[in-house]
Amino acid sequence: MQIVVTAGKGGTGKTTVATSLALALQERYPVQFLDCDVEEPDAHILLKPQIKEREPVYVNRPKIDEAKCDYCGKCSEACQFNAIMVIKDKLVLVYDELCHGCGLCHLVCPKTAISEYEVEMGLIERGTAGGMEYLQGTLTVGEPLATPIIRRLKEKIDQKKVAILDSAPGTGCPVIETMHGADFVLLVTEPTPFGLHDLRLTVDVARTLGLRMGVVLNRDGVGDRGVEEYCEKEGLPILLRIPLDRRIAVAYSNGVPLVLELPEWRERFREMFAALAELAEPERR
Ligand code: SF4
Ligand code: SF4
Repeated sequence: MQIVVTAGKGGTGKTTVATSLALALQERYPVQFLDCDVEEPDAHILLKPQIKEREPVYVNRPKIDEAKCDYCGKCSEACQFNAIMVIKDKLVLVYDELCHGCGLCHLVCPKTAISEYEVEMGLIERGTAGGMEYLQGTLTVGEPLATPIIRRLKEKIDQKKVAILDSAPGTGCPVIETMHGADFVLLVTEPTPFGLHDLRLTVDVARTLGLRMGVVLNRDGVGDRGVEEYCEKEGLPILLRIPLDRRIAVAYSNGVPLVLELPEWRERFREMFAALAELAEPERR
């Protein structure tokens, strides 16, 4: 089962929820934790994994042999990312920061003028954290594309385990890549107008991908009822409420997961998992 934990914006408690869910479940199930926030992975601060393997991630980039090129423009027409431009009879320009390394330009070139070279653009690390398997991806500083690393990370998902994917915040390509194919999306938000605004956007993305969802309301009790009213109207279940509690904030700032600081929360996270499992696979029950 794949559960994606995400949030419309940073600072809503997404990693707190993802790590505590994993720690609560690992006592009962085989668990894999994947930190897919590859631009800024931070779950390791809470889970303190022992890293045992490191694997670089490469992408292919096109290289143009101008001696063979007749500037026909077919590569530029084929590229869906506007990453290659042909200046008639003069020059072929490749914009590395836009290139997704899909290789299409190489395939369509009638003059075999495009070869490919590999660029290391990130790292996958694998190890253990307590009783669970831990994986994280890290994008090399200066590299623009997070999605190839997330894709490679997700190739390592073990279907026999409960995989918890800590996504990047927001609604960009890294979030969509992380959500794609998930069994359930947990949306962490807070009861404020900002929380509501970002929640709406994330819900739209998850609905477009046809995914089942539930909400975790963090810092419950502050702000207003806007998020609750929205969830009622949209039929989104609120699966867990975490109050604004100084002990949780202090534990987080000290790098201590919620369920280790306050063990009574383990059962609440397990109850949330039971509820979301029902929602994720109702036809099996
Ligand atoms: S498709 Fe090949 S020959 Fe045509 S412009 Fe691109 S590199 Fe040159
Ligand atoms: S590899 Fe793909 S994304 Fe990159 S320039 Fe070629 S067609 Fe465009």
